[in-house]
Parts: sequence; C-alpha cells; structure tokens
Amino acid sequence: MKKIVCKFGGSSVADAAQVGKVVSIVRSDERRCFVVPSAPGKRSDDDTKITDLLYLCHELARQNIDFSEPFNKISTRFLDLSKALNVSIDMERLLAEVEGKIAGGAGRDYVASRGEYLCGRILSDILDAAFVDPAEAILFRSDGRLDSDSYRRLRTHLSDERLYVIPGFYGADAEGEIVTFSRGGSDITGAIVARAVEAEVYENWTDVSGLLMADPRLVPDPLPVEEITYREMRELAYMGADVLHDEAMFPVRTAEIPIHIRNTNRPEDAGTLILPSRELTERMIAGVAGRPNFSMLFIEKDLMNQTTGFGQRVLEVVARHGISYDHTPSGIDTMSVIIQDEQLDGKGELLVEDIQRIIEPDRIELIQGLALIATVGEGMSHRVGIAARLFTALADAGVNVRVIDQGASEINIIVGVEEADLETALVAIYRAFVN
Ligand code: ASP
Repeated sequence: MKKIVCKFGGSSVADAAQVGKVVSIVRSDERRCFVVPSAPGKRSDDDTKITDLLYLCHELARQNIDFSEPFNKISTRFLDLSKALNVSIDMERLLAEVEGKIAGGAGRDYVASRGEYLCGRILSDILDAAFVDPAEAILFRSDGRLDSDSYRRLRTHLSDERLYVIPGFYGADAEGEIVTFSRGGSDITGAIVARAVEAEVYENWTDVSGLLMADPRLVPDPLPVEEITYREMRELAYMGADVLHDEAMFPVRTAEIPIHIRNTNRPEDAGTLILPSRELTERMIAGVAGRPNFSMLFIEKDLMNQTTGFGQRVLEVVARHGISYDHTPSGIDTMSVIIQDEQLDGKGELLVEDIQRIIEPDRIELIQGLALIATVGEGMSHRVGIAARLFTALADAGVNVRVIDQGASEINIIVGVEEADLETALVAIYRAFVN
C-alpha cells in the first residue's frame, strides 16, 4: 500500500475544534500514515501565532526582560488544547521545561521550534501515533542546507507499518543543536518526509481550497485550479501566488510525487493537485499573476549584436553593485535588465552612472514603476494564437505594454506594464482566456 504524507498548517491546529477536523481527516483514509503539523496559528485575524510568541519570548529573554506575558499566552493555549482534547501527556511539565530553557538562554531556533514540538506531542497522543522528533532525523549541514542523509535517517525512523507524527519546521545540525527552516517551513518538512517514504501523494492541508487562476483581490471570482504542473506552479508562485513555501516543491518534484493542496475546513473540495505533467485543457492557461515594484534598465548601443561580451559587461556592473536581476529581454541594439525595486534599493542612480562610464552605451535609462504579469500555461509557445489573444486583450483594455519576455521556458509570457495598469491588465488577460 502506498502511503500519504499530510502536513497541516497553523490554522488547521489553531484550536481544539480545528484539531478535531485534523483527526477525522487522518482517520478517514488509512493511507494517511505520516502527519506533519505546524505550530498553532491564528484563531482570528487579531490573534498571534504561537511561533511569533515564541520568537518574542526569546528576544525578551535575550535582553534580560521578563517574558512571562507572552509565555503565559503560549501556556494557556497549549493547556487549553490539552484539556479540551483530553490529552494524557503532562503538558505542564513540558511547558515548564521550555520556559526553563528560554530563561537559560536557549538558541532562537530551538525556542521557535517548540510550537511544532508541543503540537506534535499533542497530536501523537490523540492519534495514538509514534512521535518522531525531527531533531533526530532531519540533519542540517554547516552551511544551513539540508543534508541529504536526512532521507535515509527518516526512513529508518519511519519504517514500521503504523501512524507517525513528525513536527514540521525544524531539524538539527551535526552537534544536535536545533535548526529551523525559514518561516512557513513545515511545508518543507512535509515534502522531505514525502520523499523519504516515497509517498503516493503529499497532502498539504491549509485554510484555502487550493490555488485560484488569478488573485481574487484583483480579479473577481477567479476559477479554482484543479491541476497544475510543478513548473507552472513555480512560475505563478514567483509572481506572488503563494499557497506553498517556495522551497517545498523541490524534494517532491525530483521524486515526481504529486502535491495536493487541500482545505481542512472543506475536505470535500477538490483542492489543487500539483503534478509533473498534466493533460492540457481547452482553457490553454493555468493562471495569470502579477506584481508591482519592478524597474527596468534600458540600454541602447548601435551594433550591440556584433559586440562580443556587451551583455556580460553590463551584468558584471549590476552584480558589482550587489544587485540581482530577474530578466534580461534584448533586441538587436538594445538590452534591458529588469530588477525588483527592493534589490535596487536606492542604488539606481549610481548603477546608471557606472554603466554609462564603463560601457559607454548610446542611451541608458532607468524606467521605474513597472508591474510584471506572467500568463502561465504548459505548452503555450507551441500553440497558435495565445500571444495574439493576450495582446489583443491588453490593447482592447487600453493597456500599454512596456516590455515582453517570453524566455525559453515556453510556459510563460511575461509582460511589463505601468503599475497603474496592473489590475486592468490582469482582468483583461484573465477574461481573454476564461469566459
Ligand atoms: N510555525 C512556523 C511559522 O509560523 C512554521 C510553519 O508554520 O510552517 O513560520
């Protein structure tokens, strides 16, 4: 029997009622053998995540300031959970241990990881599952990256035919010190466990029913995405469609394990399945996403196409300013470098001056206030009429396209428009493909 790994996000374990849903989801399919929980998240908009309270405790302790107020909030939440769920573990003792460690100067990552640890202890108790502490199985190298021996270690810890709970978000380094992934990192733990046990599917349970074809704050009532490829997902995620941690896709992608984004509050919904490949549908695109805050360095030089190393020299100057760029669309005598504003961060004028001096182009301009829009769909570039449809829609909506980049990925057409046109453009493109 193939197994399912299910990761539950912070909102899925925020209170006893939510944990009750988790329990019934896990119990409703015997293939769900590996449960990876986050720390309890917000119960309402004005609530605070346990992880944030833990970071606060650590910071106060570091400054020798009393941290009892945030710690009491943490204690109350875990004690309430334990009581409501009739948990048999000694939560008071576990909390006292954590409090003592914080007071004793425990590291930031150790403190932050305790939300997942305690939540995992509760879940393993009520599910009657084996608790596997990732500190013993997920190993970080000294450069902070995952040691691939983690997969072998996990397999040895997870080899019996039974139910396991493995808290998300952390592991340990070679010295046994706790190390966490970046924020939202339980998604990565779930993916690593899925790869280690060669899961049939990696279920990522959250509070939305998967991905939508466009951002609902900008495009009214976008359709849900039922299937999407890893590549399409990556392109949309880059533009801000964030249902999953950026790094969570890589471990499962290599092993071609599908990721299924599902809603703990609506388990009957189809959710979004992220796959190695998919049947192409009549709709032609998987989705459209865009974001503001880009700038474009536009450079013109006669006979640029015959000048060896021109582009390289430009990019060297960009790199020397510590700026990383996103795209470099080019023409015969022109090239552009598209950069996120936060990368530019006040260095724009100096960069232009340097390129002027070192490269001596005929013209250089820094165009600010751009938004990029990615229209994403597997096999797009092989199909006639997609670009025509996209650009006709933009023209009809009166949107001026400042730059186009189809790149080599063949699954994405990126257009740059004025920031003020972002919403109009997104709606126009979406309507051109979905009606
Ligand atoms: N609890 C951690 C955070 O809030 C990790 C996670 O939830 O995935 O970032």
